[in-house]
Amino acid sequence: MKIESGKQHSRPEKTSKVPPLHGFRPNVKAIAGIAVAMAMAFPGASFAGPEDPRPNIRVRVDNYTQASSGTIARAEREAARILSEAGLQTVWVDCPVGHSLSAAQDPCQEPLEPADLVLRILPNATGNKFQDTVFGFAVQPVLASVYYDYPARLARSDNAKSELHVVLGCVIAHELGHLLLGSNSHSSSGIMQPRWERKQVREAMTGGLLFNPAQAKSIQVERQKRTRLLAVPGNEPR
Ligand SMILES: [Zn+2]
Repeated sequence: MKIESGKQHSRPEKTSKVPPLHGFRPNVKAIAGIAVAMAMAFPGASFAGPEDPRPNIRVRVDNYTQASSGTIARAEREAARILSEAGLQTVWVDCPVGHSLSAAQDPCQEPLEPADLVLRILPNATGNKFQDTVFGFAVQPVLASVYYDYPARLARSDNAKSELHVVLGCVIAHELGHLLLGSNSHSSSGIMQPRWERKQVREAMTGGLLFNPAQAKSIQVERQKRTRLLAVPGNEPR
C-alpha cells in the first residue's frame, strides 16, 4: 500500500461501493473515510493512521481452523505489535474461508501486490514437507503458514488459555519474519529462535520476544524494497 502524497497507488475506478483497499488518496479526509468504511466492512482488519508516513505491508489472513475471529484478531494485534517494534507497519485483512462477498467487492481476491503477504492459519502439520515444522513454514516471497495446534498445545499444557493468542501472534510474526528476512533467518535469541521452550514462552508473555536490531534493520530494508516495487509503473493491479 502506498499512501505517500502525490505518489499514491492508483487503479481504475470500480463500480463497487466498497472502497478498494488500495484506493487511497493523499487527502486526509478521504483516507480517514475509507479507513472507517473498511473497518466496518472488514472488522478484523486494522489500519494505520493517516498521519503515519511509513508505507504498510498488507497481510491477507486465511483461517482454516476453528479458532474464533476474536482469537485471530488478538493474535494479529500481537504480531502487528512485534513487527511494529521492528519498524514495520502492517495492515491485516481477514479472508474467512467460504466468505460470501462477490469477487468485485472482495480485497481477498484481488491480485497480489509486491507489498502483500499471505498468511494461512492451518490446524496442524499434517502433510507438511517443509521446515519449521513446529510453528509452520514460509514459502518465499509471500506465503507463510502457521499451525494453530502449537500455541493451542502450549496453552493447554500450561492450563493458560490466555497464552494462546499471544503465542499464536509470536508464531505469526516468526513466520512472516522468514518471508521478510530470507532463508537461514533463524537466530540464537529473540523471536527468530528455531525452538521455543518455557523461557521463550515467558518472554512472549511479557512482550519481550522480538526481532533483534539487525533483523529489524533487514526488515525495514525489505519493506522499502517491496513498497518501492509497488510504486514502479506497470506494477499497478489490473
Ligand atoms: Zn523458523
